[in-house]
Amino acid sequence: MRRVVIQLAVLVASLLGCARSAPAGESRLVRVFDACTPMGTYMAVTVYAPDEPSGRQAIAAAFARVEEVEAATSHYRETSEISKLNRGAGGPALPVGPHVWAVLRRSAEVSAETDGAFDVTVGPLVALWKKTWKKGKAPADADLAAARALVDFRSVALTQEGRRVQLPKPGMQFDLGAIAKGYAVDQAVAALRERGIQAALVDAGGDMYAMGAPPERKGWFIGIRDPSQPDEKDRILSRALCIRDQAVATSGDYEQFGVIEGRRYSHILDPRTGRPVLGVASVTVVAPDATSADAYATAMSVLGPEASVAFAEKRPGIEVMAICERGGQFVATRSKGFERLEVTPTAGR
Ligand code: AMP
Ligand code: MG
Repeated sequence: MRRVVIQLAVLVASLLGCARSAPAGESRLVRVFDACTPMGTYMAVTVYAPDEPSGRQAIAAAFARVEEVEAATSHYRETSEISKLNRGAGGPALPVGPHVWAVLRRSAEVSAETDGAFDVTVGPLVALWKKTWKKGKAPADADLAAARALVDFRSVALTQEGRRVQLPKPGMQFDLGAIAKGYAVDQAVAALRERGIQAALVDAGGDMYAMGAPPERKGWFIGIRDPSQPDEKDRILSRALCIRDQAVATSGDYEQFGVIEGRRYSHILDPRTGRPVLGVASVTVVAPDATSADAYATAMSVLGPEASVAFAEKRPGIEVMAICERGGQFVATRSKGFERLEVTPTAGR
């Protein structure tokens, strides 16, 4: 069954972008907007184009590219390459197309960098927790151990020649939910660029890319949802981000979670313990591309705030803000570069 979670984890505080004086010529561009609901989320695209029809065509091409990505990567679609790989677990390596290949290659890198905090073979654990959440219970230890034994990114064989992929053990399952939306955003951006678009904002329910800047502006304002108010979906933090040619992604436990004995458990699991992450309300990551931002936001939810800031400080272009709940208080921990991207939007700017 397809998951339908229409959720704006990161809201666009203002589509006007951050203030700046106008370079000549740019102001003749027209703003075109459209939205659709791929990958169980809400995808909004704003472009600045020479005219309305070319803007619409560019957005249509972006949506078509996203559909292509979903058709290949979604484990909710029986005909997808990922579903075929999952059904073939324990059997021989199978050839995959360029989208699945690119996502699995990048996933392997992020898994290695984060020492397994990020692992797209987490499928059996995700399925187990989903099943027991419905009953308001944690899984039995034996079931947890059996699912954990099937989660192991190191055992996945990726063979460049013929682009072949093998899940070695029966029962292993890919779940690209932590990275495929970000990849789809990057693909949408590539489709827009191919049609000559130079300023655009692509937002797939909290995984975003800000290309260029709106006319007369320095960048795009991105509001970050306040995770301390899970029921108020429009409540954003007072400081927004101002970014251009950068991606931002937020993972949060307010978006999808399970409840066991009154306690909220994140949909993000620590593959090393097999248990859901606790106490991390949201993690927002800025990166050069949306694939990385999406994967790192999930990985850093597992790593926790201190390790995430240390991770980001070592990598140019990667910034993070983690908001954690400690004793009923929400505490934000930021990398230095994240603070530098923050602005306080002023009305009328
Ligand atoms: P995101 O919303 O991008 O943080 O992705 C969360 C989704 O990724 C979950 O709903 C699971 O399907 C999957 N997932 C959960 N934990 C992990 C993990 N540690 N590594 C990779 N994928 C995960
Ligand atoms: Mg993610």
